[in-house]
Amino acid sequence: MTTTEHTESAVHAGAPLRPASGHSIFAGRQEGIPVVFEKSVKGRRAGKLPALDVPTVDLDEIIPAGERRQELPLPELSELDVVRHFTRLSKRNYSIESEFYPLGSCTMKYNPKIDENVAALPGFRNLHPLQPASTVQGALQVIHDIQRQLAEITGLPGVSTQPVAGAHGELTGILMVRAAHLKQGRMRRKVLIPDSAHGTNPATAAMAGYESITIGHDRITGELDFEDFKSKLDDDCAAIMITLPNTLGLFERRIEEICRLAHEVGCFVYCDGANLNALVGQIRPGDLGVDLLHVNLHKTFAVPHGGGGPGGGAICVAAALEPFLPAPLVVQAPDGSFAYDADRPDSIGRVHSYQGNFNAILRSYAYILQLGKEGLGDLGANAVLNANYMRALLADDFSFYVDRICMHEFVLDGRPFKEFGVRTLDIAKRLIDHGYHPPTIYFPLIAPEAIMIEPTETESKETMDAFANALIAVAHEARTTPSVVQNAPHMTPVGRLDEVRAARQPDLRWQAPVS
Ligand SMILES: *Cc1c(COP(=O)(O)O)cnc(C)c1O
Repeated sequence: MTTTEHTESAVHAGAPLRPASGHSIFAGRQEGIPVVFEKSVKGRRAGKLPALDVPTVDLDEIIPAGERRQELPLPELSELDVVRHFTRLSKRNYSIESEFYPLGSCTMKYNPKIDENVAALPGFRNLHPLQPASTVQGALQVIHDIQRQLAEITGLPGVSTQPVAGAHGELTGILMVRAAHLKQGRMRRKVLIPDSAHGTNPATAAMAGYESITIGHDRITGELDFEDFKSKLDDDCAAIMITLPNTLGLFERRIEEICRLAHEVGCFVYCDGANLNALVGQIRPGDLGVDLLHVNLHKTFAVPHGGGGPGGGAICVAAALEPFLPAPLVVQAPDGSFAYDADRPDSIGRVHSYQGNFNAILRSYAYILQLGKEGLGDLGANAVLNANYMRALLADDFSFYVDRICMHEFVLDGRPFKEFGVRTLDIAKRLIDHGYHPPTIYFPLIAPEAIMIEPTETESKETMDAFANALIAVAHEARTTPSVVQNAPHMTPVGRLDEVRAARQPDLRWQAPVS
């Protein structure tokens, strides 16, 4: 965005309103005064460099003349200007450590500080991935132990922590399915995917060379349409990718039957484990008949996320798929030492350099040990309890896409507000004025005007009460003074952005003004 646009979009029409919570992240905004981004003053300096005390080089010899930048017009600022600029920006940032973050499907829960401390221990932090195994026994033990912990939690004995995101775990898993069918002598062509699935599922199927076949859902139960599933299942199906609980926050109650029917035709059941925090310590997907599942370590096991990583997408598989796991795996030798096992002839090979995101693995490991068996059981139970509590608080003022006890999240139906000219996007924007990050909206795609809320297991009753009150206040505004909602947010440094343009022409760098 250019300097001018930034300045102009900061000025809003309409009377600015005070945020109900009084602690809006944007409390620093001065009403009516444009936010001036450009602070450079010619000749201003933050510091002086000492005289050059190393031999100069001839740049012409190193970089061909035509490839060299002639000028580098950097902003000219004092140290204080720079400190204030970045401190101000940091206050505009919204994070789980400042406010409640009810982003359905993304599980924005609190990440305990002890896990950060563990990841920062010099003994781990200063390791190099190319060190010989004999010098990194502690790190290898962490990987080995978390493989076993995840096997225990999911009920699936084969684990690789190499994938670094949920989508990456999916691709790893489906490539393993493909390798297993090729080993049996026949490549299959189709992958079944319910219409409520995350977009990464069909993308994964396509990248692995499959055609995705969509299965509908039951409008009353919110579960996969069982008859549709049965009619599309045949021995050309490599896998069904099923999210558990599904993206409407509902448990697929026929999952065992689905697994049995799939297995009868040699089709694998891939579970998208992004919602595993609803199940941890309660049931194990492997016990239900699922063949493989990825774990979003950054959702379920408290790795900070947002902004694209680094994350963890460990893949857990049933015994029949173990030979195909990525290599190398970390194994324990009979003498108790830990080693890389790269001698795996049926492995699909590497899916990432070294051992994946070791820092994400380490944080998850610390978190699992911190909670222990009992704490992990509470995790799943509280994720579900909190979501149902919040759901009950909202029941008088909102309707639900599926009206049923939920698991760890639920989906509101924004359509009833259309009669007041208010859309789901407007409600989300107005919540910002009340001091909250909006929930996920317009996902899952099957639910029109969806508002998807996941409180997570780490929030207190008081926080959930306050958020529900804010959402109810917005619903009331939508019915009585819709223009306030339609033009929100009113309290932010910038108003509604042209999101399509922001996505198509992202301009994220400071650029010298054209003089
Ligand atoms: C988050 C999510 C994914 C993708 O996981 P990433 O770690 O973002 O790649 C896949 N499926 C579901 C249901 C999700 O919520």
